[in-house]
Amino acid sequence: MKDIYEILKRYFGYESFRGGQEKIVRCLLSGGDALAVMPTGAGKSLCFQLPALAMDGITLVVSPLISLMQDQVRALGQNGIRAAYINSALTPRQIHLATQNAAQGIYKIIYVAPERLLTDSFLDFAQNADISLLAVDEAHCISQWGQDFRPGYLEIGTFISKLKKRPAVAAFTATATKHVRQDIISKLGLKNPLELTTGFDRPNLYFEINSVISRDDFLIRYIREHKDSSGIVYCATRKETDRVSALLSGRGFSCATYHAGLSDDQRKQAQEDFTFDRVRTIVATTAFGMGIDKSDVRYVIHYNMPSCMEDYYQQAGRAGRDGAAADCILLYSKSDVGLQRFLITRPVENDPLTAQQRQAHLAGAEERLQQMTYYATSKSTCLRRRILNYFGESSPAGCDNCSVCIGSYDIRLKTAASAKITDEILLGLLRQYVASAARRNGVPSYAVASEPTLRELALKQPDTPELLRQIPGFSAEKIRRYGDGIINIIAEYKNMKQ
Ligand code: ADP
Ligand code: MG
Repeated sequence: MKDIYEILKRYFGYESFRGGQEKIVRCLLSGGDALAVMPTGAGKSLCFQLPALAMDGITLVVSPLISLMQDQVRALGQNGIRAAYINSALTPRQIHLATQNAAQGIYKIIYVAPERLLTDSFLDFAQNADISLLAVDEAHCISQWGQDFRPGYLEIGTFISKLKKRPAVAAFTATATKHVRQDIISKLGLKNPLELTTGFDRPNLYFEINSVISRDDFLIRYIREHKDSSGIVYCATRKETDRVSALLSGRGFSCATYHAGLSDDQRKQAQEDFTFDRVRTIVATTAFGMGIDKSDVRYVIHYNMPSCMEDYYQQAGRAGRDGAAADCILLYSKSDVGLQRFLITRPVENDPLTAQQRQAHLAGAEERLQQMTYYATSKSTCLRRRILNYFGESSPAGCDNCSVCIGSYDIRLKTAASAKITDEILLGLLRQYVASAARRNGVPSYAVASEPTLRELALKQPDTPELLRQIPGFSAEKIRRYGDGIINIIAEYKNMKQ
């Protein structure tokens, strides 16, 4: 077997694993099953992508959404790893071709929608292929108790039983409740799995609650100061989403709108414009969710308070997946509580629940709303501590990265100017290069170089391939593709400064 650190460096450009990753990787390589519960942005993909490269045979990845598959296959391609997806975005002819290529061993990793597993053509391929690992991403979709239940996920167990040789099976989710975890283990038939739960803290996220007088003024000011960063603004209703989006567009900011009242095409367009940085801000309802894997989201602003901490943390957690600093700001007003209560108690059309179930659900929702309000009105307790305690984790008394511990965004802004360490001009030049290289290759900028990678480049200013190799995030393939370009920019910049 190949050395996992060598693979980590060569294909992903990293020297070290993040918390929990190595354990999962080693477990899968020894043929064991695993269930990994790790928060958004923790690096779950690497936990199955790295073993896929170290093992003989093929790794199948079950994934719920086309956009997630595309994002990961694109990222793998940038690292020189042959991967493909098979889903309804392809024509029957393309599916046939992909399956044929797969059967010939052209791909190491194949992403597939759960509904495809039991189709004749896919089964035919799978039963004749050497499948060493089956990874189930977003595994909470298998549970009726989770909010993203997807009936197709129930077919995975049957699919495994139809294979000639049972592969190692690994499940990944960010949803931690016990009920959902048990459901995943039993419905997938995991055998004596390694159950690994990492901490839920996201140290790079700054949390803030702001009871500003005018949310509109705050938003406009914030976005003006961050017009070169990507961010999400969550609103409570479609109407509010449309209004806020119009407000921002009216001020000349490039933004997209996303909610369930728009057509599939409109939503797809909005998400793509955001992914490829054609717009910087997306104003959305909670409908903008799981499909978003953009790793360089620098801020998530809640224009309204959400209905529960679970939703809040999941949505806020879409910021800073690349590990660089990001802001999570909740704009709170007392009127949000009444608005959320109205939304929670609104009659449901064709209610699938019985009257009694509905009653119990409402009681739970009211309790969750109270907990959310409790957080939003937190004046003296560290916000990170509040969040972690809510999810059952202990934490230090202060975090040095929330509005209670270090003051609000407005205050920080005044001190930020003096704290710059990286070379902003070089950073700008590198960003420009990465953006145009990404456009040429038809991938988003963050797939070429992440924010931490860019900052490290601007700081260390490597001007030889050897030095470039030491920058985290530079796989061998990326050095081959972009190394010369980056080295030239840095060398010229150094020359100019002398
Ligand atoms: P998740 O699926 O858990 O939400 P992802 O797999 O999308 O998270 O990874 C989030 C980000 O973390 C990606 O940009 C990825 O490149 C980065 N990442 C993963 N593993 C490491 C590592 N060992 N060192 C540095 N960055 C990593
Ligand atoms: Mg993921």
